[in-house]
Order: sequence, then structure tokens, then C-alpha cells
Amino acid sequence: MRKYSKLIVIVASYAALTLTALNIALRIPEHMGVIMGCFTAAAAVSLAILAFCLVNFERERARKEKENISRIMQSINAMAILWDADFRYVEVNSCLTNSIGYTSQDLSDIKTLKKVLPADAFAPSLQAVVNNRDEEFYVTAKGGAKVCTIWNTSIVSVSSDRKRTRYLMLSIGLDLSESIRMKEDLIKYSKELAESETRYTLSMELSEIGLLLKAAGRANYYVSEQLRNMLGINSEYVSDGVLRARFHPADVMIFDALGSAMTNCSAQDDETVRSVHCTEFRMLSADNTYRWYQFRYKINPGQTKLLADIGGAILDITKNKEKDSLIEKMAYIDDVTQIYNRNKFMQIGQEIFECSHDTDLNYWIIVLDIDNFHIINDTCGYTNGNKLLNEFGKAVQDALTTGGFGARIGGDNFALLIRDNGDEELPVNIIRSIQDKFKIICADKFSSQGMTCSAGYCKMSDGGEDFAKVLDHAEFSLSMSDGTKNDIIRYDNAVHDKIVRSAAIENELVSAIENHELVLYYQPKIHLGNGTLIGMEALIRWVKPDGTVVPPADFISVAESSLLITKISEFVLHEACRQNKAWQDMGLPPVTVSINLTAVDFYQTDVKESIMKALDATGLDPQWLDVELTESLALKDIDHAIQQMQEIRDLGVKLSMDDFGTGYSSLSYIQVLPITLLKLDRSFIMYLEEDEISREIVSAVIRIAKTKKIETIAEGIETIGQADILKEAGCDHAQGYFYGKPMPKDKFEEFMKMKAREAASVNA
Ligand code: C2E
Ligand code: MG
Ligand code: MG
Repeated sequence: MRKYSKLIVIVASYAALTLTALNIALRIPEHMGVIMGCFTAAAAVSLAILAFCLVNFERERARKEKENISRIMQSINAMAILWDADFRYVEVNSCLTNSIGYTSQDLSDIKTLKKVLPADAFAPSLQAVVNNRDEEFYVTAKGGAKVCTIWNTSIVSVSSDRKRTRYLMLSIGLDLSESIRMKEDLIKYSKELAESETRYTLSMELSEIGLLLKAAGRANYYVSEQLRNMLGINSEYVSDGVLRARFHPADVMIFDALGSAMTNCSAQDDETVRSVHCTEFRMLSADNTYRWYQFRYKINPGQTKLLADIGGAILDITKNKEKDSLIEKMAYIDDVTQIYNRNKFMQIGQEIFECSHDTDLNYWIIVLDIDNFHIINDTCGYTNGNKLLNEFGKAVQDALTTGGFGARIGGDNFALLIRDNGDEELPVNIIRSIQDKFKIICADKFSSQGMTCSAGYCKMSDGGEDFAKVLDHAEFSLSMSDGTKNDIIRYDNAVHDKIVRSAAIENELVSAIENHELVLYYQPKIHLGNGTLIGMEALIRWVKPDGTVVPPADFISVAESSLLITKISEFVLHEACRQNKAWQDMGLPPVTVSINLTAVDFYQTDVKESIMKALDATGLDPQWLDVELTESLALKDIDHAIQQMQEIRDLGVKLSMDDFGTGYSSLSYIQVLPITLLKLDRSFIMYLEEDEISREIVSAVIRIAKTKKIETIAEGIETIGQADILKEAGCDHAQGYFYGKPMPKDKFEEFMKMKAREAASVNA
């Protein structure tokens, strides 16, 4: 610009001189020449002022431009150097000074700058600018550290003077250290990823885990390659419908539940949503069979919170399931009936009991007992007994038309757990259907007409702190049946009161034993032929402090269920032996003392050991002790019973079969049991005088027993008529009110003395 302004001044001066010369040559009038000269001079001055302004304007423009560039470069978040080609002018920004530790003043010194930048740093930059190339080099920071940078240079200003054109350049640089680190990390990560992917794929293949994923709102499930192989599916994405169709009909509900978990995700709390869930189901697989799979999955809420992603690992657990079911079968399935056993019934029952508190659902618990089941065992043998149990199990299963489950919970006891549908008649109807079916089974397959089964039942909500207690209620109701005629007893207030009473009795009984409130009464046993005393039965009584006498029927069964019976039996055994020995020592004629034992004594204690101890301690000769066992007790486990009985017999102690006839036991058993005496039950004796059939049965039993060299005794004789019939039928001994009621020991001692006197007078 300066160049132009000078040119303008020169041109203006020439113009003025030329005009003056022309004036002279052309003889223009003087005053006109002066006017023209003035005009020309004014023009020249104007031109000079214009030229001057132009020069200043150019300078100002360049300064402002540099200022603007400088402001911009200071504000950018990258290293920047503003420089001219010969480095006469250098300005750096704070980002650069901060990065390399020098001040901008340091760097305005070309020496320092040369230390910082490599020798040829910006030398080819002009060319780079032309080629639009980026330069990558290391910058040396204060202290010597090398910083890897990349620079891009642009010409931001061009100015020229007489000598040359000057370019002002702006180089923008980026610190590559971070991105190099990132790049290195990325390479390392990619390598690791590749390795882990290989590991993942390998482990997926080895562990045979498939993946099933579905993103929120997507129509299809993603099925991993492994899962596709497992299920025999070709496509990577399958629809709901295709997947659902592969589910086992019984497990389709699980698939639907997964779907609804995705859509109801927002209704669940975060913890539930985010935790890992696990479910098991069967799916049609590549081998065209239903196999078991375990699905461990997570539900993650999607952005809308209304839909969720679902995904997880699927594992084929068919083999485990097979093992489990075998173990389950061994642990929970009853061998004889192939239905659940007591353990399983208790397990499922407890689970349902716990759930029922959180829902409005209620359940019925039914317990069934085949009345006098041992008749089948006795008359048809064990194999047929098992067949009958098996048939009964089927009848129980068939009765579960409204759902629920059944189990064999003990010998001939079965139980059912049924959902309450609001119909109070439901349990009775089910029990009746089983009773009817059972009748048909017995008639068709066992040619037996008289078989029945009784039942006790209760509602889960009727009380009980756990399922065991609820089952107790049903079993307690059943125990109230007399077990002979298709009884159906519901657990109600009366039953409840009885349970409460039993609990109270149990508590009192503990202190009664400690306070010696239990005493023995004795009832005479008479020789039917000559009327002499041949023995006495020790019968327990509970004499309360106020003098009330509690009969054994009120507390023996309670004692049996609480195992207090073993203490009671020990007392009875010891006291009976002691008293008998004492009477013998008094010189009274020696007679046998009989004691009663229960199934608990017989199966859960070493009876032989207890008897030996009692005999040893009291000094009673074994021949004067007789142990009474009921037939139902003996039949609970016949082999064990025979062994125990034989051990007792080997001691020289006598054995009686009590209450014979009440349990339909066949006489064939008498042959295998080592008993010495058969006690005909009172129920046969009661109607002896008026009932012809009773008489015939009694005569037949006595006759058969005689052939087996087993003595017979009739209990419950109350009249002379009964005594006469029995004597006639060949019965050996008698017991009953007719001869003497059970008496306390003092009274019985008198009775013995009286009998001894009687015998002496007969002999005399
Ligand atoms: P059980 O062993 O059959 O005893 C006979 C029961 O019949 C006794 O009742 C006796 O009093 C009763 N009785 C005897 N003759 C007659 C009669 O002519 N008419 C009538 N109506 N009844 C007669 P008790 O003493 O009440 O005993 C009942 C049952 O309690 C016994 O039946 C026995 O099973 C059990 N029991 C009694 N004492 C003991 C004991 O010390 N230990 C055990 N485990 N059970 C016992
Ligand atoms: Mg008895
Ligand atoms: Mg009896």
C-alpha cells in the first residue's frame, strides 16, 4: 500500500509540472494558468493524503487481523504457534506453554524454540500447507520429555512490502500421548477381547451353554449358535410363537411367565428385576425329544420402563434331572404303591402350608386307613397285601380329579392334599369315591366283600402351627374311628378338645409318674375246671391325689404317643414282679402275674433286657411272669415280633395273645407265634348266651388252639351262663367281673388268701 501511495504522490507531482509546462507552451492566459496550477496542486495533495490514509489503513488492518488470530489461538484447546516463515515473529498459546512447561516469553526466543521443536519441524510446512498435510513429530518439553504431537499449518495472513511477500502462519498441534496410550490400550484390549472371545466361544462349546436374548420391544429372540444346535433351530432369530411351540405343554406356562415378566417389569421392584432368576423347563430338542433345560436369566428394564430386555444362559440339565428323579424316586416314592411317601407328603405339604398364608387358597387334608388291613395279609399273604396297597394307591391317585396329590404315609395309611374349591362336601365326596372304588377292588381282585376304609380329615386353615400339626389333626380324627366301618370323621371342636385334653393329660402324667400316682390293680384269672386262682392280670390305675381313679383307656394311648409308655411299662413290669414275689414270699400259693405291653415297648425297646432286669431285681422265677401282647401289635412286623417273642419265651416267661378276635387275625398266625395262651376277647363272650354264631366261633377257636397245644382263657365273663358255655367248649381259664374285678393290691391279697383257703378246704 505504501508502494502505491508513493506512486500516487509522484504521479500527482508530474501532473502538476506537466500542466505548468503546458501553460507556458500554449500561452494560456496567466490567471487561467494560475487557476489550473492551483487545481493541479490541490489534486496532487489530495492524492498524497489518500495515499497516506491507505497506508495507515493497511497497517491497522494487519494489526487487527493479527490481534484476532492471536485471540482465537489463545482460546482454542489445542497447541498453537503463530509464526512467520523466517521465525522473526513467533507467538505461542497457553495450551502449548502448559503442555511443555516453557513460558511464551521463553518461546519467543528462537533459540529456545529450536530446542523445543525438531530442526526441520516447520521447514517443509509451507509445502505441507500447500499439500494440506499433517506433520507428526516430537516436541521436547522443559526437562527433556518428548511429547508426541501432530500439527496442521495454515496461512492466516499474507502481507508484502517492496522486498517480499510475508506469510503469517498458524500451526495447530494436538498432543498425541493420550491417543497413543488409548491406541495401545485399544490394541491390548482388542487382543484380550479376541482371546476372551475365543475363551468364551470355547467355554460355551465345552460347557454347552446356549444364549437366549430378547431386547425390549423386539419381536424376535436371539438364539446363539450353541442353543440353535441344542434345539435344532436354523435361524438366529426366532419368533415368540416358534419358541413357545417348542416348550413342553406342561411348561408353556413358564414361557408365558417370562414374557409377562418383560412386560410387567415396571411393576416389580428394582431388586427383583435386576437379580438373576432361574427356571427349569422342557423343550423339544434337536433329537426330537423333550429335554430339560435350566435358564438362568436377568431382566433389565428398558428405557420406557414398560418393556424390558431379557436374556440369559440355557443349559441342558436332562442328565441331572434323570439323576435327581432317580434320587427323588428313591427318597420320595413309595416302593409298594409307586406314589409319594410320607417324607414327600410332608415336604410338599409344608411348602403349600407356608404359601397358603400369603394367598387366599385353602386346602383339605385327608388321611385314610384300610380297616383291618391285616386280614388280607393274614388270609392272602404279604404279596397280595402289597397288591391291595398298590390298588389302593391307584384309587387315591384316581380320586385327585380336582388336583392335589396323594401319598402312602405309613403301613396301610394314605393321605391326600386337595385344593379347597369352596365346596364343604368335597373331602367327603372324595373319601366316598375312594371307599366305593376300594370295595370294588376288594370284590374283584381279592374276592373279599367286607373290606372298608376309614378317614379323618381337616381343613388347613382349621389350625396348626405347621403342616405336621395339620396332618396330626387329620390323623387324630382318624384315630377316633373304631376302624371297622368306612368311618369319616372331620376334625372339629370335639376332636380339638380331645387333643387339648390329651396334651393336658400328657403334662400331668409326667408328674404323676414322678409322684408315684400310678398303681397296679389286680384281676384274678381262674381255672374254669376247678375254680382255683391260676394268676392275676396287673392293670394300671392312675390314682390322683384327690382319690379319683383314672382308667388306663384315658391315658395309655396318650402315653404311647409321647413315649412316656416306656417309663410306665418299666414301672408295671418291676412292680408286678416285685408284688408277685412278695406274695409268694408270704407263703401264698404261687400264681402267674400278667402284664400288658404296647407296640412301642415291643418294637422300640429291648424287652428281653428289661424283663431280665426286673426278674433279677425282684428274684421272681420267670415261669410266674406272663406277657400279654395284642394281635395287632404282633402283626405290625411279624418277623420282628416272632424274634422278640421267641427271646422272651427263651427266658422261660409265658406269652399270651390278648384281645384275640378283635383284629380278625387268622388262626394260621397262632401256629407261627410262640404263644402259650390265647385270650378270647370280651366281644365274643358278651353275646355267648344268646348268639349261636358267637358260640360256634368260640368253640372253633378253642378246638384249634388245643390242637396247637395253646391254652385258652376267656376275658369279660360276667355271668355263670357264659362261664358254663365256655367250660363246655373246653376253655381252660376265665377272667371277668363274675370272678372278680380289678382290685388294689391289699384287696387282692385278701382275695388270694380267700382263694388259698378255698383250695385248701377242697383238698382237705
Ligand atoms: P386288657 O388287657 O384286655 O384288660 C382287660 C380289660 O377288661 C380291663 O380293663 C378289665 O378291667 C376289663 N374287664 C375284665 N373283665 C371284665 C368284665 O367282665 N366286664 C367288663 N366290662 N370289663 C372287664 P382296664 O383295666 O380298664 O384296662 C383296659 C385296657 O388297658 C387293657 O385291656 C389293656 O389293654 C390296657 N392296660 C391296662 N393296664 C395296662 C398296663 O399296665 N400297661 C398297658 N400297656 N396297658 C394296660
Ligand atoms: Mg390284657
Ligand atoms: Mg384284653
